[in-house]
Amino acid sequence: MSFDAGILALPFYEPRHVERARQIESWCAEHTELWDDQADPDATGLRILRALGEHGWLAALDPAGGPQGLAAGDCRSLCLLREALAYADDLADFAFSIQALAATPIVRHGTEEQQRRYLAPMAKGTLCGAFAISEPEVGSDVAAIGLKAERVADGYVLNGKKAWIANGGIADLFCVIARTGEGPGALGLTAFLVPANTPGLTVGQRVPLIAPRSFADLEFLDCRLPPDSVLGRPGGGFVIAMEVLERFRMTVGAAAIGFARRATDAALTHAKNRSMYGARQFDLQLVKATFAEIEVELNAASLLVARAAWEADRGDPAAAKHSSIAKLYATEHAQHIVDACVQVFGAAGLVADSVPERLYRQIRSLRIYEGTSEVQKLIIAGSLGGRGRAK
Ligand SMILES: Cc1cc2nc3c(=O)[nH]c(=O)nc-3n(C[C@H](O)[C@H](O)[C@H](O)COP(=O)(O)OP(=O)(O)OC[C@H]3O[C@@H](n4cnc5c(N)ncnc54)[C@H](O)[C@@H]3O)c2cc1C
Repeated sequence: MSFDAGILALPFYEPRHVERARQIESWCAEHTELWDDQADPDATGLRILRALGEHGWLAALDPAGGPQGLAAGDCRSLCLLREALAYADDLADFAFSIQALAATPIVRHGTEEQQRRYLAPMAKGTLCGAFAISEPEVGSDVAAIGLKAERVADGYVLNGKKAWIANGGIADLFCVIARTGEGPGALGLTAFLVPANTPGLTVGQRVPLIAPRSFADLEFLDCRLPPDSVLGRPGGGFVIAMEVLERFRMTVGAAAIGFARRATDAALTHAKNRSMYGARQFDLQLVKATFAEIEVELNAASLLVARAAWEADRGDPAAAKHSSIAKLYATEHAQHIVDACVQVFGAAGLVADSVPERLYRQIRSLRIYEGTSEVQKLIIAGSLGGRGRAK
């Protein structure tokens, strides 16, 4: 089961969320053939993306597309969909989440023309998106972005590199944050929409990861863009990047819960079927203690994600802090849970491509992307400025 029914029944969620959660759970169970073959993450990612679009799971990415799907930017839906997809398969969650990540800045800041051009095909899964912030020399410190966008008479010229870009090798459209220099540091960044076939943009070698996903570096060499490729306002790129990350961090927490719940279900089945010392492995007290700890952590993570998503959907400014709390707690504890589940399996948990071994590799990156755990701690601690009294 991808979800904890008791948590779904809490007032954080409306009946439409619960219904959608059940639908995505069934859809995943009926479409496992989409991610059976993981040999080529580019091809599998695109196949999953097309299917997600065809079956309406990306419909919310196009607010002009009518009432199918859920409201654009509905964080509770995003979280629930990621939880179920991550439970089913890493590449399924990846295909969904990167498309949503790339479309969200266009939904929130795009002109009518940009929205018309890009969102309908993104919602159909026929146009693949990517969001490019990181660079070989710049990760956590986003304000230090170096990719240069020089203003010229007929638009902008981009020169520099991006690194670690999810969907880098398969995207048709990149949302790129570059330095335009309206001000120092964070004040001098602008977001651009760059079609992948723009002359001067080259996709580098695929980057192999411990859990293979479509992943590549980008190079911009005298890459000329028209003025209408600016997303939002010149100088507003940092705000766009932070806003998107704030909204998506809680969804990373949701995906972490999906991975952890899958590992737990597999370990429970194993422990209830394996005989040891004349009884079931599950009946050993230390094993019970392991599962009790896991259950507490899963509950806490699910509640933190639900709170952050509920607040974000209400427009509560506290959602940013709680999004970081949800990501930090859920990803760190999912790592612990998956590791504990491998331990329950013993040697069988280390067999290449078994469920526990795959999850063990797949869970690791969630503590790094969209802001590392250390960055989340800085954000959370930074929010405490008004509390306590300095003597
Ligand atoms: C699977 C995956 C997908 C990704 N997808 C994308 C994508 O689509 N687009 C994109 O732009 N990027 C993407 N990234 C890159 C990701 O956002 C960066 O890896 C992340 O922001 C961290 O940057 P870094 O790797 O350069 O590490 P660094 O910033 O160099 O950090 C290295 C270490 O220093 C720590 N650190 C940083 N600041 C502090 C501090 N103040 N105090 C203490 N410790 C600190 C970090 O926590 C980390 O442990 C992806 C990464 C992964 C793994």
